[in-house]
Amino acid sequence: MNASTDFRRAERIATVEISEIVRLSERAADMRVAGRDVIALSTGEPDFPTPAPVVEAAHAAALAGKTRYTATAGTAELRDAVAARPGVTRAEVLISTGAKQVLANAMLATLDPGDEVLVPAPYWSSYTEIVTMAGGRAVVITCPMSADFKLSPEALEAAITPKTRWLMLNSPSNPTGVVYTADELRALADVLARHPNVWIIADEIYEHLNYVPVMSFRDAAPELEQRTLIVNGVSKAWSMTGWRIGWGIGPKALIAAMTAVQGQVTSGACSVSQAAGLAALTGDNEHLKPRCAAFRARRDKLVAGLNAIDGIQCPNPDGAFYVFPSITRLIERGGFASDAAFCTWLLDEVGVAIVPGRAFGLEGHARISFAYADGELDEGLARIADAAGRLG
Ligand code: PMP
Repeated sequence: MNASTDFRRAERIATVEISEIVRLSERAADMRVAGRDVIALSTGEPDFPTPAPVVEAAHAAALAGKTRYTATAGTAELRDAVAARPGVTRAEVLISTGAKQVLANAMLATLDPGDEVLVPAPYWSSYTEIVTMAGGRAVVITCPMSADFKLSPEALEAAITPKTRWLMLNSPSNPTGVVYTADELRALADVLARHPNVWIIADEIYEHLNYVPVMSFRDAAPELEQRTLIVNGVSKAWSMTGWRIGWGIGPKALIAAMTAVQGQVTSGACSVSQAAGLAALTGDNEHLKPRCAAFRARRDKLVAGLNAIDGIQCPNPDGAFYVFPSITRLIERGGFASDAAFCTWLLDEVGVAIVPGRAFGLEGHARISFAYADGELDEGLARIADAAGRLG
């Protein structure tokens, strides 16, 4: 082949890969197709259906001809529905193709080469990759299990440099389920108040899936509102991962810059999905309570079951639908090179897919999703216990 036609990646994305979560889930799906009986506890999407009135609203919108490009920043109706909280105006809201695109827009709109973004670990894998793709530098702050996986004000203060542009906060957290209390958010806000060049992304996509009260960063730190971007969406609470609707709430100038980026990349979110998102946001939300109760019951069973396995130590998550236990003793006992090697073995040995901590920036752990039906969770748990027993 002619050398000039060889494929070459941009340096900017040299290290960017398909996420380990996707890779493992696809491997599990392939194994299933090949006839293996696989329990995949690896993905972060609710097993419940999208509420019927939401689906009906999308259907009606499509039949009514709402099938054209919408305004780049989203339909006025949906932006207003998102803005329906004290002190927010339409100009401070951007609708995107999932919360993920909100994050990408924000990074592309603000980062220059070498700009730093603070990412407390364990983190949702895409944070660091999006920062890298936008040409910035993700600065990981390790928050171990002994610190409840939470960023302390001291660790935040120590990580800030003149190049810091953003802090990424995620509460309730993926992968740990950790929820920051109002006092903890205040303590972080006090540090940030001393560093006016640092902006804050508060990813609150799991806001409504909680087992303790959840406070929005905007409510905890109103004085930082002019440099805070709230990220949220319908994917998790309304079981709408495939509809791809998320939003950002932030200062007008930031939202305008993000809208300019989005306009050149996707033109805006899907029109029919925006109609569905509107129905979700303005609906009665009757589905939420029973679903949270179901998630809580699964969580209780999973945490108890995992802690009963010798070699696993599992904290109790306060929100979202993940547990992030320490598996270091199992890794040692089995002589595995890493948590990833353990997870690969687990999938081959007993057909259970879970995601290694490495994918979230913290080795020695694994993320197990409980967004699965009880039968699958029970079977998954039994197989993990069985596998652990085989390690002697
Ligand atoms: N933030 C976090 C913390 C997530 O876990 C996810 C989904 N896995 C997203 C953002 C992206 O959500 P969306 O489907 O709306 O793009």
